[in-house]
Amino acid sequence: MGCLFCNIIQGKTPSIKVYENDAVYAFEDINPQAPVHVLVVHKTHTRTIEYLNDSNSRIMSDIFLAVKEIARLKAIDGKGYRIIINNGPAAGQVIWHMHVHILGGKDNLGPMLAQY
Ligand code: 5GP
Ligand code: ZN
Repeated sequence: MGCLFCNIIQGKTPSIKVYENDAVYAFEDINPQAPVHVLVVHKTHTRTIEYLNDSNSRIMSDIFLAVKEIARLKAIDGKGYRIIINNGPAAGQVIWHMHVHILGGKDNLGPMLAQY
């Protein structure tokens, strides 16, 4: 089976690349929920936030520095944008390789959650 996002990072599964550096790969979400919807993944496979620790916490700084760069590339840094991590089943995580969603490209992205 393997991991879909590891396959995307390795180019075995096609994707539309937005940004890449030694640590991070970012690509267009296949089912965008906003005019800009980019997924940012670390090249180190990490299942969820629960797998972070003192020795691999660089993963998060690598991801968030890439988020800043991608927001600039997509010209959404001025207006603002939303970052989402669906972490675990209750959040609706379906791909078990931790990733950050960048959502933007609108004046108002709406409420944080659809309903409560
Ligand atoms: P999550 O696990 O955070 O709930 O959502 C996974 C995200 O990955 C979804 O927004 C979904 O549209 C996206 N996704 C699932 N499969 C693919 C794929 O094969 N290619 C791309 N580019 N995105 C995908
Ligand atoms: Zn993976």
